[in-house]
Amino acid sequence: MNTLVMKFGGTSMGSAARIRDVARIVGSRNGSKRIVVVSAMSGITNTLFEMAEAARHHDLDRAVQLLSKIEQNHIETARSLDVASPDTIGGIKEIIENLQRRIRGIDLLGELSPRIMDEIASAGERLSSILAAAFMKCPLLDARKVIKTDSHFGRARPKAASIKKAVSLYLTPLLDSYDVIVTQGYIGSDDAEDTTTLGRGGSDFSAGLLGAAIQASEIEIWTDVEGILTADPRIVPSAKTVEILSYDEAAELASYGAKVLHPATVRPALDAGVPVTIRSTFKPEGMYSTISPGESSGRPCVAIAMRRNVAIISVTQESMTEQAGFLAKLFDVFGRRGVSVDLVSTSEICVSVSLDGGAPLDALMQDLEKLGKVSIAQERAVIAVVGDLLRKTPEVLRTTFVAIDHIPVDIISMGANAINLSVIVQEQDAERAMRSLHQAFFEGGAA
Ligand code: ADP
Ligand code: ASP
Ligand code: MG
Repeated sequence: MNTLVMKFGGTSMGSAARIRDVARIVGSRNGSKRIVVVSAMSGITNTLFEMAEAARHHDLDRAVQLLSKIEQNHIETARSLDVASPDTIGGIKEIIENLQRRIRGIDLLGELSPRIMDEIASAGERLSSILAAAFMKCPLLDARKVIKTDSHFGRARPKAASIKKAVSLYLTPLLDSYDVIVTQGYIGSDDAEDTTTLGRGGSDFSAGLLGAAIQASEIEIWTDVEGILTADPRIVPSAKTVEILSYDEAAELASYGAKVLHPATVRPALDAGVPVTIRSTFKPEGMYSTISPGESSGRPCVAIAMRRNVAIISVTQESMTEQAGFLAKLFDVFGRRGVSVDLVSTSEICVSVSLDGGAPLDALMQDLEKLGKVSIAQERAVIAVVGDLLRKTPEVLRTTFVAIDHIPVDIISMGANAINLSVIVQEQDAERAMRSLHQAFFEGGAA
């Protein structure tokens, strides 16, 4: 029998009715062994972060109030699903009581370490998975036993060899005895058995890692839209499903803001040759996207993605041309601060780089002032036009420039991998630019 990994996101787990739909979809794949990877119920991970922050600011009342909202939400869902047995309720209460102890500790010390934050953040998936396993009457595997990671709390990196070993130790024997197993997305553990998380939106990544380790026949990512669309439908309502994409196209779109897929998801799947599909729990029989080994959209522009909250730092140095090693010194500053640089544009006397707006801009500015005159532009967005045949199709450049000729552009960059053309614009212009580009590439028959 083949094995499927089926991942259900926050909206798909968002209520008793939605969990029933999940069970129906899992049931529809009854010819396969199924590893069901679940996210926290929608909004819960955010609430856990908010709760921990409230405790750190000594607002214990608020923290307790948020925690009791989380408890109620899960207990009511258990009742609606008819799974409120002492076991299920006991499992929920145990997690809640642990969180209670944690927030009291944080309030007392006024300190919240990344390690404790990960343990708290993991509670969302631990809670939702109890409900899913109880409703589907199948075993629940604690993902922390198999998703082994380093200790980079908040954005832990997986250890592929350890995961493979743990999967054959804990997951494979379970699959021999059961057809369906539930586990959590997003969470893992390090060598000291401390809980880690793979970064926000990381449940997709968990599915990729498990699918690769078990050599699944397919990784199904079930979400609230019909696959990867030609643009974020919240910005471009007329966006359409992209039926086939290459791994590179999907990874590029994801890292440029297409939230529908965590950027790291496709790498392990690609390495293991496992296809990934993205489907809608609202329309299980509707359109979907397939990312498959050796496949490509075969298009110059497959989709357009956007990421907000980008900053641009420019360093001007009159005598740069004579200064050998200037760029090395510049990048060393970013490297030492652990900041990854996105787009780079250089001229005779000025280098501009774009980076995440959450980077420590003041500290970077101080360091960089030793190299030249520094200026920072904030509230920018990067828009990426992505397609495997982009570089081979010069009209893409013309179409892009004509589409946004009314919008001021800060930086233009052609990705070194040749499948991405990025522009940085002011955040206030970004949605308008997205719609113009979408119109030009998908609604007007251009390129
Ligand atoms: P889940 O909770 O299932 O992981 P997410 O909220 O993380 O779901 O991702 C799905 C959302 O991603 C969609 O509702 C949509 O608004 C957004 N999105 C952004 N870009 C795209 C795109 N190109 N195609 C589809 N969805 C996109
Ligand atoms: N629950 C986690 C988050 O909200 C992981 C996920 O949903 O993928 O980031
Ligand atoms: Mg997601």
